[in-house]
Amino acid sequence: MIDFLIRSVPLFARIKLVYYLVGIETLALVCYIFFSFHSLQDKLHQYTVASNRSHLSHQLAIKAEQTQRVADSFIENGNQAAADHVAYVLEGMRKIIGEMLQQPNSKADQATITSIERHLLLYVETFDEVQVQRFLQSMLVEEDMANQASKAQYRVRKVLLSSSPVGLAQSEEIELLKILNELVMAEKQAYRYFNQLEAKQYDAALLHLKMAKTILDEGNHQLEAAYIDKLEEDIDRFESVLTEAVQRTRGYLYLLNVVMAAEISEVLYHSHLMVERETANMFVIRNHMKEELSGIIFNTFVFGALFYILVVLVSWAMGRSVIDPIKKLTQSFRQLARGALDTPIPKLESNDEMGDLAQAAEVFKHTNTHTKELLKRYQALSGELEGKVAKRTAELEQKNEELRLLSSTDRLTGVYNRMKLEEQIQHEISRAQRYKLDYSIVMLDVDYFKNVNDSFGHQVGDRVLKMFAVELQNNVRESDVVGRWGGEEFIISCSCTNADNAFSLAEKLREIIEHLDFGSGIACTASFGVSQYQLEDSLESLISRADNALYESKRMGRNKVSVK
Ligand code: GH3
Ligand code: MG
Ligand code: MG
Repeated sequence: MIDFLIRSVPLFARIKLVYYLVGIETLALVCYIFFSFHSLQDKLHQYTVASNRSHLSHQLAIKAEQTQRVADSFIENGNQAAADHVAYVLEGMRKIIGEMLQQPNSKADQATITSIERHLLLYVETFDEVQVQRFLQSMLVEEDMANQASKAQYRVRKVLLSSSPVGLAQSEEIELLKILNELVMAEKQAYRYFNQLEAKQYDAALLHLKMAKTILDEGNHQLEAAYIDKLEEDIDRFESVLTEAVQRTRGYLYLLNVVMAAEISEVLYHSHLMVERETANMFVIRNHMKEELSGIIFNTFVFGALFYILVVLVSWAMGRSVIDPIKKLTQSFRQLARGALDTPIPKLESNDEMGDLAQAAEVFKHTNTHTKELLKRYQALSGELEGKVAKRTAELEQKNEELRLLSSTDRLTGVYNRMKLEEQIQHEISRAQRYKLDYSIVMLDVDYFKNVNDSFGHQVGDRVLKMFAVELQNNVRESDVVGRWGGEEFIISCSCTNADNAFSLAEKLREIIEHLDFGSGIACTASFGVSQYQLEDSLESLISRADNALYESKRMGRNKVSVK
């Protein structure tokens, strides 16, 4: 699959593919984590709600217990502050219920809260009733019962205190005191009962009243029947008020201990039920959260690991598809650079940029080979051309030399021609002028040369002229220069030579020529004109004087030397 991709998809497209792959993977991972955490957040919210409800239920239970305790305390001492406290605690419970109702509740929760609310309402109503009952009881005890007890006791005391002067019989007094004692004891026990709420105290009170009545009925006294009736009536009323008060007490005690206790137990039960339910709910949510979190961690790890493996695989394949060919191609190029033109270019099957590069390398190799061949041919041709150029240059140089000689020498005699001679004389004049040197020229002309030509022919004349030149050349100094001035005239340039020495040279030459055999019985002489360089002399003036001297020698009969 990967090989197929490498072979058929271009490199750039492959890189883009990897980018897309990594991008999609990352996006998927991020989305998964986002939604997972979103769900977790939801669970966390549920957990918080459950926890809050559990807390409120717990608070409610605490307050319910507190309420009943404070209510008990109120009943014990009738303290209004305790009743207010109960109202305050109940108000607190109502607030908690209100808070619970504001929260999102399930049907079961709603039913429980409503039930709690209902029981609390009954509790409050019962407590109100208890308060009323207790108030009435206290009124009954503190006013009616007290009045009746006092009334009965007063009636007995009145008899004891306001008896006739004769006085009561001792036995009668004792009876009355017994009755009074029983009445006082009955009252005492009644109060004890209302203080301590013990049934035996109520029984004791009734017994004392009964005793009082028995003594009254059966005692040894002379009391009037009407008095006895009145006192019995008082005792009966006392007893009935006492009984009513006891019944009222039992009534509110029943309300407190049974009804209120039952209602508050209901509240407590439902509160605990809710706490338990919410705790169980919290436990379930926590377990779900744990499982979900473990799942997220596991999935993220697996996802990440797969993602990592995929990236590593793709990167490895990408690297292999690029690095391997590049290594091979680099090796080939190095060898090509070293000049190994037979280096094989690796055949890459991939249809991508690497394949193009390999093809380009193949083309480069062929082009390079072709270029090398061209270079070789060029070098061969260049060598050939260089040889030809060198040969031609040598020929040209030779020709140039010949031309140079031709331009400066006379073709017939081989000595300097007139142009070169003028150049030489001009050069010597400049030297003599600058360095104050002596300088002279000797001009000579073959005498009657026309006759030679006429007699022996032009070719012989030429030979004679050549011999003249040779003879002159052979008999002058190294520093002297011989040149042909024209026709059968020659000039000898004598550097650093004054007129006398030039004259001597001319004389010597004249004599040599005079005695020279030119072959075929030909004898020739020559006439000479010598001139020395004078200050302000030009080439023309110097030659002109030599020419004049030569003319002088001709005129004087030829074969002479003249100086001007
Ligand atoms: P003079 O003594 O007065 O100089 O008499 P001459 O005959 O030498 O003088 P003229 O001027 O009458 O003649 C010069 C001759 O020199 C004429 C000419 O044919 C000959 N001549 C000049 N140049 C050449 C040359 O190159 N070769 C040959 N063979 N003859 C030459
Ligand atoms: Mg002449
Ligand atoms: Mg002549």
